Amino acid sequence: MKNKKRKHSYSAETRLIYGRSQTPKWDYSHHLVPPLSSSSTFRMSTTKRGAKGFIEFAHHAGEFIVPSKAPIYIYDRLGEPNKDILEENLAVAEQGECAVTFATGMAAVSAVCGILLGSESEIVAHKMLYGCTFSLFKNWLPRYRVRVRWVDFNDVQALGKAITPHTRLLYFETPVNPTMELIDIRRVVEIAKRHNIHRSASHKIYTVVDNTFATPFCQRPLEIGIDFVVESLTKGLCGFGTDMGGVIVGPSWSYDQLLLYRKDFGGVLGSKSAWPILVYGLPSLAVRIRQQMQTAQRVSEFLQNDKRIGAVSYPGLDSFPQRSLARSQMKSYDGSFSPGTLIYFTMAGQSSPKRKCKADNLVNFIAKNSYTVTLAVSLGNIRTLIEHPASMTHSSMTPEEQLKRGIDPGGIRLSVGLEKADDIIKDLQQALRHL
Ligand SMILES: *Cc1c(COP(=O)(O)O)cnc(C)c1O
Repeated sequence: MKNKKRKHSYSAETRLIYGRSQTPKWDYSHHLVPPLSSSSTFRMSTTKRGAKGFIEFAHHAGEFIVPSKAPIYIYDRLGEPNKDILEENLAVAEQGECAVTFATGMAAVSAVCGILLGSESEIVAHKMLYGCTFSLFKNWLPRYRVRVRWVDFNDVQALGKAITPHTRLLYFETPVNPTMELIDIRRVVEIAKRHNIHRSASHKIYTVVDNTFATPFCQRPLEIGIDFVVESLTKGLCGFGTDMGGVIVGPSWSYDQLLLYRKDFGGVLGSKSAWPILVYGLPSLAVRIRQQMQTAQRVSEFLQNDKRIGAVSYPGLDSFPQRSLARSQMKSYDGSFSPGTLIYFTMAGQSSPKRKCKADNLVNFIAKNSYTVTLAVSLGNIRTLIEHPASMTHSSMTPEEQLKRGIDPGGIRLSVGLEKADDIIKDLQQALRHL
């Protein structure tokens, strides 16, 4: 493309709005935005042309960023213009070589496992993961003889020890859901590299980060050397809470395999869900997150100063235990510190049943009385959402397991939206007064 060089001189933030601006994937040059495409199958002029489409399908490896010609669309499950354009833009957002979308974040998490693992292979996973990922690893992968070893990724020695000749995948989230603990991405990359020196290509260890909490605006693990990023599009990338989706961003060699996996396992992102993420979600990502972070900073400072609250975990706070790691790893495209839009806090109190009771009361009062704070799971929404992980998102773990893995019974997760900070604080203050 003749303007390619020039386009790269624009900031990644601006490129979230335009992507490549023109794409050989689809000619919609009379429209300002890509129209919503809705066609499950595509007309082909001759059988020869159709046959060429099938041969070309999933043979773009290495040329994903600049495919020389328009693809031949055959059937939505193989490829379709709206999600193809979204994938190009998501690759730009995460600064990766290629992106493949899926129906949900969980479909993306299972797909990255699907292409990298086989029976007798092993995952080393951080001890705390998103509830459904935890359930996938605990309940389903063992059925396919995939073993999962749980360790604390902040314990370098334990991580090194958990790696065996069968290890294929180091899997983690940072910030960790819901505790907001961080994991040092660079250190995990180094450990994988050290082990890979002695391994053949077919035994290589791959690193995978679930980047849902940070979004690519706050953190781009691929730039730090991670192999694959998985992410739920349902959260901050969609932003408005209207649609579900997931994506894997990774090296170009994985593109064929991911397309084949998606074709055969079938978890495709529908064009009607790809479109709002492409047209509203990604282009507004920077302005939403920047505003929501400012508010999260104020709300977390307010919580920290209230004696009814125990600990507040927000990477932007001076009291955050991993403050310097946060500053070196969570950065927007221009390098400014970007601690995200999620806050985790625990209620004050000595006994854990008491803390749990207080958390219940607080969240229930908010559910009933708050104008700006809603009791709901999900996150990264323009509306502020509150939830109680111990009884909701992380209930796939037994209470003993929760404690062991760092979830306090009185812990509360707050996802800060676009409302005025003063209004959110007013609602929280009112709820705290009623404890
Ligand atoms: C929500 C979420 C997922 C799963 O995404 P869905 O789109 O709901 O399938 C995975 N990881 C994290 C960290 C999440 O918050």
